[in-house]
Amino acid sequence: MTTPTVNHTSPALPLRPELAHEEPYGAPQLDVPVLLNVNENPYAPSDAVVATIAADVAEAARGLNRYPDREFLGLRGDLAAYLLKESGVALQAEQVWAANGSNEVMLHLLQAFGGPGRTVVSFAPTYSMYPEYARDTHTRWVAGRRNDDFTLDVAHAVEVIEREQPSVILLTSPNNPTGTALPLDVVEAVLDAAARVHVPDAPAGAGAVVVVDEAYAEFRREGTPSALGLLADRPNLAVSRTMSKAFGAAGMRLGYLAASTRLVDALRVVRLPYHLSAVTQAAARAALKHTDELMAQIGSLRDERDALVVWLREQGFTVADTDANFVLFGMFADRHAVWQGLLDRGVLIREVGPAGWLRVSVGTPQETAAFREALTDVQKELR
Ligand SMILES: *Cc1c(COP(=O)(O)O)cnc(C)c1O
Repeated sequence: MTTPTVNHTSPALPLRPELAHEEPYGAPQLDVPVLLNVNENPYAPSDAVVATIAADVAEAARGLNRYPDREFLGLRGDLAAYLLKESGVALQAEQVWAANGSNEVMLHLLQAFGGPGRTVVSFAPTYSMYPEYARDTHTRWVAGRRNDDFTLDVAHAVEVIEREQPSVILLTSPNNPTGTALPLDVVEAVLDAAARVHVPDAPAGAGAVVVVDEAYAEFRREGTPSALGLLADRPNLAVSRTMSKAFGAAGMRLGYLAASTRLVDALRVVRLPYHLSAVTQAAARAALKHTDELMAQIGSLRDERDALVVWLREQGFTVADTDANFVLFGMFADRHAVWQGLLDRGVLIREVGPAGWLRVSVGTPQETAAFREALTDVQKELR
């Protein structure tokens, strides 16, 4: 598979000027034996999961002459039940929203709460897609910074929020590409600052919306909390999750969030009619019937991650603490040469993050072994 590039030459089209030199996202999709580049779950769904999905999708297919359930409260209720099991936080189905990947959930958030004349603030290094959603919704993008160890300094965060008066603040925890989780006191300080924001064209006292992107939450280490626990007292908070990573269903395209019913109702205004197909709804609900099996697997991926961190440190690399299913490591004078050397040995990782760092996803034990061997080999060659 190759990624086609955009033809920027003739004939001219009335393209929005800010899109003139943009390329489509993103990560190379290459056909190599060991894929450790986009933080997928390395384990394909089990036969039992596949069988349930096949049966439930077949049932849904009988009704495909009709538009799907626009409100999909069945799926939203199942997701709420999953969050209760995973995080111990009880939510109503009406407090959950879903779309085709948490990428679309994020787009809904910016369509509802961003827009022309408004600002979204985040803290870099962070997920490379956010500025694109901002661009696509005509929202001004402002990135504050994280500390050298990728934690977030509360004083700096508050200063950026007070200066920029954003309508949306995006926090990522665990952060991509660094793996850093935010302590809840940092999230609460940001929520407090958000409550003091005056969005110029919003009702007085509205404050900013705070989104905590928890795409990797299931991989968090013992003792690392989820921001879901803050929802009860915080009507402006949205916590987004996805079935793409821990749940092992990146191909399904199902992302979701939990928030106050009022916040969710605002997203219902901007979604396309029938945005979530009946097939997607059925497949997601079928996979959620196997939650216990999937949650058991997450434990072994966490152990694999922790062992990889230890090994990389033993080799003398600098490794960012990680609560996700990937590891950011360095520092390399020429990271591209290392990335290429690994690719030449059949191991695809991601050249992403601040200069000098590389990111590797946690694979099966066999894949991780192949990565360790290839990296050792590349280091010898480049020395
Ligand atoms: C992978 C990832 C997502 C998930 O995107 P989906 O559209 O749900 O596949 C969201 N946020 C971050 C930070 C990610 O790394």
